[in-house]
Order: sequence, then C-alpha cells, then structure tokens
Amino acid sequence: MESTNHLNQQEYGAIERAPLPRNMIENSMFEEEPDVVDLAKESPSYPIDSDDVVYEPRSSRLLVRGLGENDLDEDEEDYESSARLLGMSFMNRSSNQRSASSSYTRQQPSGSCSMPSAKTTVIGVLILVVVVSIFMVIYFVPGCTFTRNGCSKTNSTINKIFPISTSGELFPWTELRLPSSVHPVRYDISLHPDLKNMSFQGSVSIKVEVLHETKIIVLHSSDMNITKATFEGKVVPVLEYKPWQQIAIKFPEDLKKGTYGLNIDYTASFSNSYDGFYNSSYVDTNGTKRVLAATQFEPLAARKAFPCFDEPAFKSTFLIKITREPNYISLSNMPKVKTTNLKNGLQEDEFKESETMSTYLVAFIVAEFISYSRNVSNTTVSVYAVPDKKEQVHYALDTAAKLLEFYNTFFEIDYPLRKLDLVAIPDFLAGAMENWGLITFRETTLLVGNNSSPIDKQLVTSVIAHELAHQWFGNLVTMRWWNDLWLNEGFATYMQYMSISNVFPDLDINTEFLNVRFKALAKDALNSSHPVSAVVSTPEQVEEMFDSVSYEKGASILLMLNATLRDGEFRKGVIEYLQKYNRSNTESEDLWNSLSQVSKQNVNVSEMMHTWTVHKGFPLVTVKRNGTQVTLSQEHFLLNAGNSMDDSLWHIPLTYVNESCSVLSSCKQVFHLKDKTAILKLPGKVKWLKFNFRSDGFYIVHYDVEGWKDLIEALQNVTVLPCEDRAALINNIFALSRLGKVSFRQVLNLMNYIKNETETAPLTEALFQLGQIYRLLDKRSELNLASRMKSYIDDHFGSLMESQSWELETSVSKMTLRSALLEMACSLNRLNCTTQAKRLFDQWVDSNKTFQIPSDLMTTVFKVAAQTDDGWDVLLSTYKHSICDAEKRKTLEALASTQDVRKIIWILQKSLDGSEIQTQEFPLVIHTICKNFAGYLYAWDFVKENWGKITQKFAVGSFAIQSIIMSATSQFSTKTHLMEAQNFFNSLGAKGSQMRIVQEATETIKQNMRWMEENLDTLQHWL
Ligand SMILES: [Zn+2]
Repeated sequence: MESTNHLNQQEYGAIERAPLPRNMIENSMFEEEPDVVDLAKESPSYPIDSDDVVYEPRSSRLLVRGLGENDLDEDEEDYESSARLLGMSFMNRSSNQRSASSSYTRQQPSGSCSMPSAKTTVIGVLILVVVVSIFMVIYFVPGCTFTRNGCSKTNSTINKIFPISTSGELFPWTELRLPSSVHPVRYDISLHPDLKNMSFQGSVSIKVEVLHETKIIVLHSSDMNITKATFEGKVVPVLEYKPWQQIAIKFPEDLKKGTYGLNIDYTASFSNSYDGFYNSSYVDTNGTKRVLAATQFEPLAARKAFPCFDEPAFKSTFLIKITREPNYISLSNMPKVKTTNLKNGLQEDEFKESETMSTYLVAFIVAEFISYSRNVSNTTVSVYAVPDKKEQVHYALDTAAKLLEFYNTFFEIDYPLRKLDLVAIPDFLAGAMENWGLITFRETTLLVGNNSSPIDKQLVTSVIAHELAHQWFGNLVTMRWWNDLWLNEGFATYMQYMSISNVFPDLDINTEFLNVRFKALAKDALNSSHPVSAVVSTPEQVEEMFDSVSYEKGASILLMLNATLRDGEFRKGVIEYLQKYNRSNTESEDLWNSLSQVSKQNVNVSEMMHTWTVHKGFPLVTVKRNGTQVTLSQEHFLLNAGNSMDDSLWHIPLTYVNESCSVLSSCKQVFHLKDKTAILKLPGKVKWLKFNFRSDGFYIVHYDVEGWKDLIEALQNVTVLPCEDRAALINNIFALSRLGKVSFRQVLNLMNYIKNETETAPLTEALFQLGQIYRLLDKRSELNLASRMKSYIDDHFGSLMESQSWELETSVSKMTLRSALLEMACSLNRLNCTTQAKRLFDQWVDSNKTFQIPSDLMTTVFKVAAQTDDGWDVLLSTYKHSICDAEKRKTLEALASTQDVRKIIWILQKSLDGSEIQTQEFPLVIHTICKNFAGYLYAWDFVKENWGKITQKFAVGSFAIQSIIMSATSQFSTKTHLMEAQNFFNSLGAKGSQMRIVQEATETIKQNMRWMEENLDTLQHWL
C-alpha cells in the first residue's frame, strides 16, 4: 500500500486515477477495534473515583487501577477501553508533545491529592497549600495510595506502583513494553475456529528461554478467556491486566537461566472488527451467504488470537495446527505437512514449523477458496480467491512470479519459504498485508477482470510488488520497534517503484512515483507532520506511524540517497544489510552504516540521512544567482509557520543542470548543502539553472525573480528539460505561492507554457493544482471567479480535451492523461465530453452491459450517467450485482457524485449502516460527495451528526477516520467554517480531538483562508 494521503490530498477531482489510496492501500487495514478511543489525549469526561487512582509522585506516574472486570458497571466496555488507554498513555506520553495538554493536568499529584477542598479557599491559602503539599509529596511520601480515606503511606522502598489485575491481586509488571528477561523460542499453536458460533478454541505451548533470572513471565493476551495454564506441566495461576493487554505468571523463586515450557488453553470470540482473528462474510453468485475466518495482526493484534510476546523483536518459530470442517480449506504461513481425520468428522491441518519471525507476521485463514499455482525457483506461488472469481487470479499469478524472480536476483538472497500464497479476501477493510508466505489482499488490489485496464493492473502490480518486497524488508529483517516502521514501509514502497520500473516498464510507474513524492511534500509541509523516525509507545502512536511519512517520505528519501550514490552502491549496501541482519531486528542506523561502508564517495551516508530522519518536514532551498556566483540557502518549508523559530538544517545533496546539458542523467551536477547558506561558484556563464534534477530530491526550490524569469523563458522550448522537471516546476511554484513566496501572477506566468505541453506528468500536475483552486472558489461561492477559472482551464486545456480518444487505449501514460483531462472536462460540463460520455453509457446499457467501456474512462462515463434518475438506477443495480471489485468501486464513485441531495443523503446512510453499500467504502463515499458543490455541506453535517456511529465502525486515529475528516473539511476556506470545524473537533473530547489529523485539518483550512485572502485580488485581476 502506499500513502495515507491519497484521499486527503487528491482533491483534484480530475486526476484520480486509482480509486484506492495508492500509497496507503495497506494502511486501511490497520484499524483498531472500534471501541478503542483515544481518551488518553483528553481529560477524561467520566468520573474516576479517587480510590481508583494511585499516584507515584517521584516519577509523576498515574495509574488507573481497579477498572478491571470486577469493577465494571453498565458502561463496562467504554470504561474498560478507556482505562486501557489511560493506563497506557499516562505511563508513556512523557515524550509526546501532542498529549502534553489535558492529560497531564491530571498528573499534578499535589493539588488533586492533598487539598481537594482548596478550591474554596482564598487564593493566598491555596497557593500556600499547594506549595506545601508539593513539598510534602515530593520529599516525604515515596509512594502514596489515595483512597476515600485519604492518602496512606506505603512502603518507602517501593519505587514502582503495580496495577491491580482482574483477580484483585497486584499485577507484577509496570511497563507497556514487555520485560526482556524471557524470550519465546517456539510456539506450538492449535486452533479450532467454529464458524457457526463465531468463536474459537485455542491451545498454545510456548517454549521460552529465561535469559536473566526472574520471578515473572509477562506476555500479551487480549479478549480471551484463559481456561488453563501450566508451567513445566504444573498448573499455574495467570494474572491479567486488561488495560495493557498483558498477562503474567508469578513464581515464588527466581527462574534460573534455561528453557521452559508454558502451556495455555483458552477460548475467544472472533474479532468483530477487522483485526485479530476475525470472521468475514460474502454472498456468492447463487445468493448464498458464505463465511470465512482470517487474521490481520499488524501491528498489535496477534495477542487477540493467541497469548504471545507481541513485539517485533521477540522473534520465534511457530508451528500451527488448525481444526476445520471438511468443506473448508485452511492456510497458514508455511506449507501444510499433513491432514488428520478426527473422530467428530472434523479434520486437522498441520503446517510446517515456520522461520524465525515476529508475531505480527503470523497468519491463518479458514475459507472456501480456489487457487492457481506456479513454481518459481524452489517456491510454489499460488493465488487464492472465492470460486466465483477464479478467472480473475491469473494476472496476479503472472505478476507475482515475475516479481519474485526479480527480488530473488536483486537481493541475492532467495525467498526462503517453499510456498508463497496471495489471497483475495472479500469484504475486507484492509488493502494488503505481508504475512510471511501468506499475503492477504483486498479483492481490488489482487484480482483483475477481463475488462480491467492497464491502470487497474498498475494498482494490482504496485501492491504485489510492495508486499513481496516486505518478504525481505520486514519479514527477513525487521525493525526493532515501531518507531522505525519506515524501515519496513519506506523501503517496501521504494522497492515497489524500483521493481516495477524494471520488470513492467509499460506501467509508467515513474510518473506515479513522482506524484507520490509531490503528495508526500504537501503533507510534510504542515506543522502537524512528524519526523520519519519518531518516538512511539502507546498503541495509538503505533497506529499513527502507518502514514504518509513512513511510506511516501521514507521512499522519497531512499530515492534521493540512491540518486546520490554511485551506480550499484545502493544495491550493494542493501544486500550487505540484508545478509548481516538476516532474521534479526534493526534500527535506522544499521541501514545507514551498511550503506556508508559501500559508498566510495566522500559522502557520509549516516550523517546525511540522519538529518532526513530526525527533523520533521523538508527544506526550501533558495537560489540567488549573480553572474557565476550562486548563493544557496536553506530553511524549513513550513506552511502556517507563524513565528516559528525553526533552525533545522538538512544535509542536501543538491543537484542542478543548465542549458548546456539538461536532459540526460550525465548532465547532473551535485553540490552538498549542509549549512544555512553556501556559495556555489560556476565555472562559466549560464543562461539558467534548474535545481533538483528530475525532482529526485525531497526539497522544494525557489529562485530569485531573474532565476524564475530565465526558467520561464527557457520553457518556450518545452523539451529543454525532462518532463519530471517540468512537473516539478509547476508543483514547486504552486507550493511557493501557498507559502507566500511568489505571487499568483508569477504562477500564471509559468503556466503560460502549458499550451505547448504534451506529457502526462506536467499536465496532470497542472490540472490537479488548478482543480484544487477551482473547487475552493466554487465552494466559497465566488461564482464569478470560479467561472473565470473554468474559462482559464478551457483556454489552456480545451484543445487537448477535445483531441482525446474515447476508444480502447493501451498506453498507461495516455490513459492516465486522458482520464484526468476528460474527468475534468465532464465535471466542468464541457458539452463534447458529456455527450460522448452519454453515448458510451447508452451503448453499454443497450448492449445489456456487454459493450466494453474503456476501463480508464468508466468513472467519467458513469459520473455523467449518474446525474439522471434512470442512469442512477442502472448504476445502483450494477453496483449490487457486479463481481468485479474494481468496477464496483468506480460505480460507487459515480453514484456518490450525484447532485441530487436526496440521493446523497440516502447513499451516506446506506454506506454507514452497511445495508446496501459496503461500510468499508464509507470513506470513499464521503470523499466523492465532498468534492462536489451539491453535497459537501450535507456530508459534513452527516459526519458531525453520526460521529458516534462512525467511530464505532472505524477506529479513532485510523486511516479511514483521517480520510473522512480531511475530505469533509479540506474544502473550507472561510472563518465561519474554520470556527465551525474547530467547535466540532473540540466537542469530540475523548472521541478524537487530539488526533493529528484534526490539527492537519485545521491547518489546511487556515491555509486555504490565507491563500484566498492573499490571492483573490490577483485572481480578479489576472484570471
Ligand atoms: Zn507495507
């Protein structure tokens, strides 16, 4: 998957090539269970009895205790999840600025503890008492338990305050991370899923190794009923602390170093969200409802399927056995070694013991699937799907086989397993997940129908390439902890583009990667962004790492590094890294060190890359030329900077070309800018300079007035620069206009060349940028300006729009361009476009849907058709009966683009309740509705009114919620709307007011407001 922000930023309507979030296809799968809400980031709005709270003044820790099972009342689920997060967060947020506000107000041990009645006394007395009480608490009370009876002094030797387990006994561990004294070596897991009763029984035997003498074993377990536990054959009691999803066994004596056997029997219900061991259902073409069970463990849900040491560094082997009905098959990471008939008519499959691996990569599935297979080297590659879709698996099989061969050669380490399964799971919130040997996909990201276009194939290929890269980056070598998630995701994202451009050059993936870098820059320009490597402890912090920064920025900085190193050095360093850390865990530094060793240049990779992973954001490089002397300076490119005093400095491998040689890679020259400013001396006079050759670097460049003028003049001959550079000039000048560095007049000056442009990348970038402005003007009811923007687009793109063919097309690049142009043309109601679209739709209906509409034009054609009642009805029936997931999504987008308000409300309701439209598509529905004038305010109202329901379906902080919030608010550009949005976000309290996306949304509205204020006059004047 690839970028969190596809839905958020691609408000460009015209250019939405992929209905799924490209760079974040995986992200949507990392949903928390719906009842997990981020209470920790907000003052709890529910009462916590003072005797439920234990303070440990010296370390400012606060624990909520006694909120286990025994103390829960009718609101028990809310309380339980709240307590879990409170516990986690209060213990671990000290380094997190974002949570520093309200939650810490509860951590003032003095005021709340000693003087609850002080509020009623006079100010002077209050201050005195507070000071005295702070003094007393800090210096006289080492550990203090507060109850209704007051503050009772506890044993002065206790440094840690232990929480209370569900049994009422003290839980013997006080950290969110597990102790390192005990490691798992091997798991032996037997599972019996009961698909009729939606529950499963399990038994896990864990061989553990005690590395340091200890009296406790602590591991993870969530939502399961432990029926029996034995240690070395003897029954032992198990303590559970639900808020942290931990269980513990206490021993009277120290366990000596050595290996031991721990056995746990348990029962549990299937998860009703999309993580853990969950059940899913679909209706086959005969109308029969089918059920299946599958897993999604990354990042923190293996603990919902079996008790385990659920952190990526606790690698172990796994031997899995699954009992099932004979009509189902079961799959797991490893090949099946045998099937045993059991007495009760059931069968048990046993799988080979796995490689040493992390818990989040374990997977198993019980379903009625069919498959096709092929051998690649020593591996059997298979693609699984429901029987109705067996014709749609072949493209994926071919693609996976080719990519597996590529990676085997590229990494010089063969994929180590004997089988690799790729499984399409119906009704699946996720996009894809790289479970070792058993990769799971959403149907759209794996299956390719007869009518699918190369653009649909580009999406499937991208996701397969990404997941296969994980078999090395992530599965073989794994980040030690989630703070370095980018080592997994940035790398897999980079490798996905690199492998596709090698193996499938026809898919035009480089243009896609360029767009991804532009999106990453836009996201990272906000103050709400974060460094690539960030401190994470709590579950919600772990979830939030699955975002554009880890994926897209991670991939972008790797591209920049590869472009800086000499040919072959990057690959050599990567191979060395994989060999050195094979089957173990790493941190960012390990990768940089491996790459430093192979670099023969004077580039200190570690020193350079460090600056790109520890600072949030990216640099703006300003170029001022005076003859042959060029002054270069860098600063943080930060929208809405205010008075920020940011002195971050990056080590920028600055590349540049001039008119004497500007197209070939060999033209590129490099200057390493490490300081705030530097002087570059040119050997001779030049007409112009273009920095950041092919936009391989993760920075934006601003020129002085002359510099821009020279470049604009140079563009009179379009081919003077590669198309990536032309696209980047357009991207950068719009970004600089948002930053207030250039006027919109200057933007339009540059855009004058676009009439001569023919390449996809610059044209789609220009359409995207103009489309964004058009939509904002439209929604501000600046009708006059919106209509002038429409004329501007007509004037600059009209002839290209007219010249597009409506026939089947094979070139991805041409399809990308024409679908962008025609979707924009039809959305602006250009007569030729809507007439052609209607013609194709009528032909399709008349032929009983056998006529083939070019797949890349399907969304455009359907959107035009959806504006009439008849067309809408036909499309609704198509949506309900289609067995092609890609077609279904395009149809749904069209349905949601209706301008009929009643239909808009109907579709909002149906997609949220899941009755006629799949709930997994709710974010897409909101996104599509919000792009159009008719429905965006209704959608916003709907989100506000149904926030409770929405957060039951999608976890607070999840990608789905991020997309919903961004779609619903990014079209606002007035003070009234800003206040309205802020009021709503503030009212969310525990239900999300502290989410990063809320800051992002607010920043975006402010940015829109500022841009409009600064540029409305210019637009009046020049448009
Ligand atoms: Zn990934």
